[in-house]
Amino acid sequence: MGRRILFLGPPGGGKGTQAKMVRRALGVPHVSTGDMLREAMASGSDLGRQAETYVSVGDLVPDELVVALVEERLAREDAAGGYLLDGFPRNLPQAEALAEVLGDEALDTIVYLDVDEEEIIARLLKRAELEGRADDNEETIRHRLEVFHGETEPLIAYYGDRVRRVDGTGSVEDIYCRIALELAS
Ligand code: ADP
Repeated sequence: MGRRILFLGPPGGGKGTQAKMVRRALGVPHVSTGDMLREAMASGSDLGRQAETYVSVGDLVPDELVVALVEERLAREDAAGGYLLDGFPRNLPQAEALAEVLGDEALDTIVYLDVDEEEIIARLLKRAELEGRADDNEETIRHRLEVFHGETEPLIAYYGDRVRRVDGTGSVEDIYCRIALELAS
């Protein structure tokens, strides 16, 4: 069994960017519920249509939908040698579902990317200009931050001293070096 990594952090915290670098370095699949939901929305599938009403306003997609999506993804062959979870679990029920499905061995390293609120808003507004993601407008960004504080932040306490806090500010390369150090220790 290879590495089983979880990236936690606020929206716009750089999880996706760093996850892609770690995937290249370690060769583990990058399992991003945000990416999977956007793919489903782009394909116009049932799941995509259901997800859209939540994603577009910055709410969490119902747990049963994302848990099923992740369960299916982690059961695929390429995840047998490890994985990097990004954006899941995002609340306590999802964390409990993950523990139930995969047991205590589900995660070996939990990295929390720490970025302050002002920086996050600035990054997301910039991304809105560059990528035009429908949920990157100011109102939705503020709501996603509220959801993060209310639903996702409690996971830091849930995972307790297993969480490695990494400073998520600075250059992409600097942040990656800090993460690589944590993954090596
Ligand atoms: P960000 O971290 O910038 O918010 P993501 O791509 O991780 O971006 O998520 C985008 C949206 O997808 C979220 O606002 C939410 O609506 C939905 N989403 C992603 N992951 C989950 C999840 N684990 N549970 C519920 N909804 C999710």
